Amino acid sequence: MNARKQQKLRKQLEERKADIESNVAYMADEIRSIGVDQDDENGSLGNHIADDGSNVTEAERLVTISEDFQNLLGQIDAALERMEDGTYGTCLRCGKPIGEERLEAFPYVAYCIECQSIIEREQALRAGA
Ligand SMILES: [Zn+2]
Repeated sequence: MNARKQQKLRKQLEERKADIESNVAYMADEIRSIGVDQDDENGSLGNHIADDGSNVTEAERLVTISEDFQNLLGQIDAALERMEDGTYGTCLRCGKPIGEERLEAFPYVAYCIECQSIIEREQALRAGA
């Protein structure tokens, strides 16, 4: 991958990262306002939970989404690090180049499409075991 293309992808990653971080911050506020922040250092867990269960469900939904976002943020950070150390675009599993089309669609991926499908199969097997 040439430097200009990588620069473009880096910009995309950085924009995506900023976007996700603001979403995560927003959701953290929402979760706190619902009052089921499990990390509440005052230990007031549940103090503000309304009697109707919908707030709890909403908080759980937000927690799940923000966990997904955190996970994605980790992948973006790792991709930015690989750009720094010059290993970006190389599959972490087999060491072959990751297709440029794949990187353009998902700039944060760490594996080529073959390894990704193997990893997903392994994860599915473990999940089913
Ligand atoms: Zn691979």
